[in-house]
Amino acid sequence: MQDCIFCRIAKHEIPASIVYEDDMFVAFLDIRPINKGHTLIVPKVHAMTLLDLPDDVLREELVLAKRLAKVILEVTGFKAFNLFNTNGRESGQEVFHHHLHIIPRKDEDGLKLSISPVQYGEGEAKELEELIRKGMEGK
Ligand code: AMP
Ligand code: ZN
Repeated sequence: MQDCIFCRIAKHEIPASIVYEDDMFVAFLDIRPINKGHTLIVPKVHAMTLLDLPDDVLREELVLAKRLAKVILEVTGFKAFNLFNTNGRESGQEVFHHHLHIIPRKDEDGLKLSISPVQYGEGEAKELEELIRKGMEGK
């Protein structure tokens, strides 16, 4: 897409610290890293969210995430990482071209992924369990 910043990085129209590239993906350092080495994997095909991404690209993306995460940990010395992905504004998505974050992690680095859990009402979890299980049939 013409005005999409990640499409433009993928086409080398604007600069980025590209750490890996092949026919399907570009990966580059996040400009606002949570920790040093924080990297984004971006498919070259424009898909807004993970739900719009073709399955073959998604499969390759996860394999690449594993390869890249190993190298990032080796090079930076971090021992842990999060694979993170936003889908939709309410999830914190700011760039509407699907991407995976590889975020190296250390103790007390300030990133909090957990909040206080919501409570299911009486029978609500069971109802939801059945709805999702049914919804999955044939999908
Ligand atoms: P998200 O909230 O999942 O949409 O994350 C978007 C990420 O893209 C943020 O962590 C930004 O810091 C990062 N970002 C935005 N523009 C650029 C850019 N030009 N180069 C590198 N990273 C970027
Ligand atoms: Zn795009």
